[in-house]
Amino acid sequence: MRKQTAAPPLTEEIFDWGRYPRVAHRYVHKPAWNDQVPAILEAAGPGALLPHGLGRSYGDSCLNAGRELIDCRRLNRILGFEESTGLLRCESGVSLSDIIDVFLPKGWFLPVTPGTSFVTVGGAIANDVHGKNHHCAGTFGSHVRRIALHRSEDDLVFCSSEENPDMLRATIGGLGLTGVIAWADIQLKRVAGPWIDAESIPFQSLNTFLDLSRDSNDRFEYTVAWLDCFAGKNPRGIFFRGNHATDHGKEFHPKRGPKLPFALPVWLLNRYSVKAFNAVYYRFHAARKGASVEAYAPFFYPLDSVRQWNLLYGRRGFVQYQCVMPEPRPAAFEELLDRIAHSGMGSFLGVLKQFGSAPAAGILSFPRPGLTIALDFAMRGEPTLQLMQSLDEVVQESGGAIYPAKDARMSPAMFEASFPRWRSFVPYMDPKMSSSFWRRVTGAQ
Ligand SMILES: Cc1cc2nc3c(=O)[nH]c(=O)nc-3n(C[C@H](O)[C@H](O)[C@H](O)COP(=O)(O)OP(=O)(O)OC[C@H]3O[C@@H](n4cnc5c(N)ncnc54)[C@H](O)[C@@H]3O)c2cc1C
Repeated sequence: MRKQTAAPPLTEEIFDWGRYPRVAHRYVHKPAWNDQVPAILEAAGPGALLPHGLGRSYGDSCLNAGRELIDCRRLNRILGFEESTGLLRCESGVSLSDIIDVFLPKGWFLPVTPGTSFVTVGGAIANDVHGKNHHCAGTFGSHVRRIALHRSEDDLVFCSSEENPDMLRATIGGLGLTGVIAWADIQLKRVAGPWIDAESIPFQSLNTFLDLSRDSNDRFEYTVAWLDCFAGKNPRGIFFRGNHATDHGKEFHPKRGPKLPFALPVWLLNRYSVKAFNAVYYRFHAARKGASVEAYAPFFYPLDSVRQWNLLYGRRGFVQYQCVMPEPRPAAFEELLDRIAHSGMGSFLGVLKQFGSAPAAGILSFPRPGLTIALDFAMRGEPTLQLMQSLDEVVQESGGAIYPAKDARMSPAMFEASFPRWRSFVPYMDPKMSSSFWRRVTGAQ
C-alpha cells in the first residue's frame, strides 16, 4: 500500500522567463491588498516564502521550489504623484509599462529601464536592474527614494537615506530576501515626449565597439550594442545610441504586437538557423545605418512587441548568460566569444554594453565598471551547462561576475567570486524568506 505523505501536493507550476528550471510550488499567495501580507508572513515557517513579480527573471532567483510564493502583481496601485517634482509613489506590483502608460503622456519617463517593460517595481528594485543609460544614470535602485517593507518580525519598515539606510541598501538588489516591498517612491525624469533621436552604427571589432562607447557615452544618454556571437574573436555587431527627442510634432500611436501561441519545436533552433538569423539581422541593420527618429517602445523594448517570445526556444526552455568583465581585457573577452563560437551554440540575442562607474546602490547589485554581455542559449541539457561552466572560468579568471537575475546554474564558487561581500547581506534577510537560487548558491536550507 502507498504511504500517505503529510505535505500538501505540489501543484503550482510557475515559470521563470527562461522556463528552466521547471519547479513546482506548494502554494502561491495572491494578496490583493498590502494589509493582507502580514498574516501571510506570520503564518509561514522559516524560509517558506519568496515575493514574485512578473517572472521576467530568467532563472531561479524568482522561484522557491517546493515552498511558497507571494505573487505581488495585484498590489498594483498608484498611490501618489508630485506633478512639480516627478516623485511617484506606487505599490510594488505596478509594472514599468503601467508607469509609462500613465506618466509618459504627462511628460515623465522611467529614470532607468531594463530591456522589457513587463517588470514590476518590486522586481526592478530586488534585482537593481540596469538599462542602456547605466553610464550616466546608474541603476534603478539609485532612483528609489523611499520604500515600505513588510518584514515578518517588524511589521512595516520604512527605509530611505535617512531611515534604515542599511536596510534600503540590502533590499535594492536583495533578491526579494529582505521582505516584501509594499510600496516605493521613485524619482521619474522629465522628457519632451515619446520619441528618441536614435542612431545605429555597424562595427566589426571589439576595439571599434569600445571606441564607439567612449565616444558616445558623453553625448548620448542611451548606448547598447547587438552582437553577432558567431563571428568569433572579431565580433561584428550594431551599435545603437540615442537621446530623448525634443518634440517632433509626430502623432504617436502605441502598437500592440502579436503573441507566440505555443512553444516552437526544438529542431527549428539549430546552429544553422541561429547563424542565418544573426547574418540577416546584421545586414538588415547595417543597410539601415544612420540617424532616425524612433518611438520609445521599439528603441527600449524591441522584444516586447512579440508577447511570449520565450516560447521560441521550445519546451526545454533556455538559459541566459550575463556576465560583466572588468575593462579593458580584450583577451578575456575574445576568449569568451571564441568558446561560444566553437560550441556552435550561439544565441539570437547577444547584447553588449559598457557599464559606467556609478557606485553600487545595493549590497548585492550586479553592475560594476566593465563590459557586460548577455546571451541566450537554448537549453540542451549537459552540453549547454558545460559551455556555461567553461565561460564561468574565463569570467572568474578576469575578476568578473554573473548576474543573478539571469542565472539558473552558477556554482557556489562562482557566486562567491561574483559577490565576495554576500555574507554581509545575510543579517538583513527576513528569516521567513528564501529562494531556489539562494539555496543553490549559498547552501542555505
Ligand atoms: C526581455 C528581457 C529583457 C531584460 N532586460 C534587462 C536589462 O536590460 N537589465 C536588467 O537589469 N534586467 C533585465 N531583465 C531582467 C528583469 O529586468 C529582472 O529579472 C526583473 O527583476 C524582473 O522583474 P519581475 O517583476 O518580473 O520580477 P520576478 O522576476 O518575478 O522577481 C525578481 C526578483 O524580485 C523579487 N520581488 C518581486 N516582487 C517583489 C516585492 N514586491 N518585494 C520584494 N521583492 C520582490 C523576487 O523575489 C525576485 O527575487 C530582462 C528580462 C527580460 C525578460
